[in-house]
Amino acid sequence: MQLFDVAIVGGGPAGSSCAAFCATAGLQSLIIDREKFPREKVCGDCLNPSCWPILKRLELVEKVRDLPHSKLCSVAFIAIDGREVTIDLPSGADCEISVKRSLFDDLLLKRACELGANVHEQTTVTGLSRNGDWKIETASGQTFHARMLIGADGRNSTVAHLCNLLPRPARERVALQAHIPLPRDFGNRIVLQFLPEGYSGQAPVNESQLNLCLVGTPPTISTLRRWAKREFQLPADQGWRTITPLTRSSVSSAHENLFFIGDAARVVEPFTGEGIYYALRSGELAAKTAEKILRGDDRNSALREFARTYVQMYRGRLWINRLARAAVVHPQLGSFFVHTAQINRSILKLLTAKIVSASLR
Ligand SMILES: Cc1cc2nc3c(=O)[nH]c(=O)nc-3n(C[C@H](O)[C@H](O)[C@H](O)COP(=O)(O)OP(=O)(O)OC[C@H]3O[C@@H](n4cnc5c(N)ncnc54)[C@H](O)[C@@H]3O)c2cc1C
Repeated sequence: MQLFDVAIVGGGPAGSSCAAFCATAGLQSLIIDREKFPREKVCGDCLNPSCWPILKRLELVEKVRDLPHSKLCSVAFIAIDGREVTIDLPSGADCEISVKRSLFDDLLLKRACELGANVHEQTTVTGLSRNGDWKIETASGQTFHARMLIGADGRNSTVAHLCNLLPRPARERVALQAHIPLPRDFGNRIVLQFLPEGYSGQAPVNESQLNLCLVGTPPTISTLRRWAKREFQLPADQGWRTITPLTRSSVSSAHENLFFIGDAARVVEPFTGEGIYYALRSGELAAKTAEKILRGDDRNSALREFARTYVQMYRGRLWINRLARAAVVHPQLGSFFVHTAQINRSILKLLTAKIVSASLR
């Protein structure tokens, strides 16, 4: 029986980043994911510039830039009545880009593997027990053993569910996403469009495809789908990926020999496009802490340091995300922001600058 130092459930950005940093630190690490990569994921596909320093530490910057992607120059906010305000995004090498999650996540998972992590794809975790070490059971009857467990399995985390830590699902919104043909003259911009029933996010992901997201409630999502069909001349049988919930209470990140990272710990409003950054960074922080604890450093001080840096990661950002959530849950309020910004753009510029960690023209 092989005893891994760290078992990570979920091979998205959080799990792969954590596994890569664990492997670099010499820990025997395991990633288990139910999907076969490359796989798509409901996402706006936008990489916040804050991701670049972490990608540098993973030595992945050039490889990410080699993937088909779009450099994003501006973000256009469109009110319900069609009024529009455009804010420029920072330019230069470390600008915001959009890249398909199938490509980005596959690259990260491969990097973790290359650094020494063991990867088990098409393996769904269904059971957990702990008697000192963790025993992890899968749908296909395999068992794995590890000293430390990391839940990196997304917003509907099975690990949190099996540990009785997953908050009760609320009646929540739903998101749809598809890659559709890129409309002519769309430009290298993100469009965030308030609609009476919710909102839509749009960004080109390469020279021929647009990422289209729709966010609404279960009763209104079909109206949004009809809007998208008219707006983008979509075929009647257009396929959509879907995900819910868009919001839920957070799960405490650090427990005894158990961490939650990325969406498994905290789901943020996708409107601001920061989830991948939190996933990558929380993966890195959990790996550092796992290394310290498994090497025999003082557990309490390692956990204190983890708590400090984890809070720091969200500092100055979460309130904007909450503001964005209020604006999208009440699209009339979001539209009011856009109208106000037509007269004075400074507030919208300041908020956008905070999200992309830059000072904007
Ligand atoms: C509509 C929408 C738009 C978004 N747009 C953006 C954006 O533009 N930019 C941005 O930064 N963020 C965006 N986000 C957020 C972003 O998608 C997430 O924050 C990010 O994917 C979190 O990464 P993760 O690794 O924590 O989880 P995930 O990417 O969800 O990965 C979790 C992995 O766990 C695996 N898994 C789940 N259960 C099990 C199980 N039982 N056994 C084994 N494996 C399992 C899954 O297969 C998956 O691969 C958006 C989200 C939504 C909903």
